Amino acid sequence: MSTLRTIQHLIDGRLHEGGSRFADVFDPARGQPVARVALADAATVSEAIASAHRALPGWKATPPLKRARVMSRLKTLLEDNAARICGLVTLEHGKVLADSMGELQRGIENVEYASYAPELLKGEHSRNVGPDIDAWSEHQALGVTAGITPFNFPVMVPLWMWPMAVACGNTFILKPSERDPSSALLVAELALEAGLPPGVLNVVHGDKEAVDVLLTDPRVKAVSFVGSTPVAEAIYATGCRNGKRVQALGGAKNHAVVMPDADIGNAVSALMGAAYGSCGERCMAVPLVVAVGEQTADAIIAGLTAEIAKMKVGPGTAEKCDMGPLVTKAHFDKVRGYVDAGVEEGATLVVDGRGLKVAGHEEGYFLGPCLFDHVKPAMRIYREEIFGPVLGVVRVQTLAEAMALIDAHEYGNGTCIFTRDGEAARHFTDHIEVGMVGVNVPLPVPVAYHSFGGWKRSLFGDLHAYGPDAVRFYTRRKAITQRWPSAGVREGAVFSFPSSR
Ligand code: NAD
Repeated sequence: MSTLRTIQHLIDGRLHEGGSRFADVFDPARGQPVARVALADAATVSEAIASAHRALPGWKATPPLKRARVMSRLKTLLEDNAARICGLVTLEHGKVLADSMGELQRGIENVEYASYAPELLKGEHSRNVGPDIDAWSEHQALGVTAGITPFNFPVMVPLWMWPMAVACGNTFILKPSERDPSSALLVAELALEAGLPPGVLNVVHGDKEAVDVLLTDPRVKAVSFVGSTPVAEAIYATGCRNGKRVQALGGAKNHAVVMPDADIGNAVSALMGAAYGSCGERCMAVPLVVAVGEQTADAIIAGLTAEIAKMKVGPGTAEKCDMGPLVTKAHFDKVRGYVDAGVEEGATLVVDGRGLKVAGHEEGYFLGPCLFDHVKPAMRIYREEIFGPVLGVVRVQTLAEAMALIDAHEYGNGTCIFTRDGEAARHFTDHIEVGMVGVNVPLPVPVAYHSFGGWKRSLFGDLHAYGPDAVRFYTRRKAITQRWPSAGVREGAVFSFPSSR
């Protein structure tokens, strides 16, 4: 019998274990399990769907302003409980506390945006489109909806999804990452405290077994997914085949172009955070720098090397740490393997973080920052998503060459350009084949009132996450044409197609 705390499902407003399988959840800074999470079987997920289905009619009929008020109360509760929530994020994910706070704040902004739902749900109305005829279109809730989220933003990505889904009148089933599930569960409990009726938001933990039920049960009308590209692609295909609306956001390999005229000092500072913040475990991280010109590349390498030497790596709870551990032992081994592969493939390893040991945390999954120079497009460290603290510099001679590289890459999530040249920046933003672009901004993650989404194999589906696209994703349009003939007006049958001629 395990003595570890068990992270339970939240179904119909109650916590329970469901099923018989469990997985350990680790503190990556110590390499020790700190809890075990229940893994839902098909019957447990079906129970959650039934609860969401039962809650739907009452919630859908609740006036949008009342639904929005729950979001406003939740925002306050999230702010009041920030230390607890972020403590759980840092414990199970490993990122430093300041980074967990930043993640939570971005999530809260999505809750804030969802509290504007009554305004966002207003339709369009046209009077007198014909004799005594008015027409309007409105957004109606889809029904039971679901979200499947990744480990790297355990609190923010769920908040991209369910607040807007429920504010639009849907009910929701969240399946957080089984690697760090506690913070999403705590937020769901706070939503109950904020007044969300039981069943409107259910949380089931689990793996493929749980996800497969969400993808095939006909009561689920739409699925949002964020995670790796192979899983995103499979989820998109299975969900669509089962008649659901699906948006599936996948992996990334974001390039930062540094032009010869850039402010190199600022570019280096920006690249440090973008490459090594959250140990590189961000889908908007910058793992590749494309330096235009040899002098630019030399200056960037020198600047990064000097800054890396000042970095403090340690447990996320420690004061003034810049970077914590990787999330799991398996991920640590994978990322380390990429560093080995880069060396074997002939890239120059300028900074080698493989030998790092953190005193008192010898079992933790710590990898120091790594920096490669002379990375070539054929190398695995160029092509594949590493998702760790590994930054590679590619040397090119022109902006056109840099843009051709980015356009040819499989992923198109984010990119940025560092320059003082407005013409180059405008050309870049106009033509680059990437969904989110920064100019002197390394992590161009859209704010909550713009939508988030990549191009190419970074997104499967049409609508982006959160912001205005979330209202479109979680609702369907209905167009109504209504006639109230004036008293005494009588018309004969008309056989021509109705028009305004
Ligand atoms: P993952 O694909 O392993 O898991 C994501 C979710 O899918 C988890 O809830 C997991 O339990 C579930 N899952 C895993 N395998 C599954 C399967 N075979 N069938 C059904 N469900 C399955 O991703 P991860 O390792 O948790 O997260 C890291 C990945 O997410 C990276 O590739 C990163 O780029 C990506 N990501 C993308 C974005 C974005 O907005 N595009 C944001 C964050 C993370």
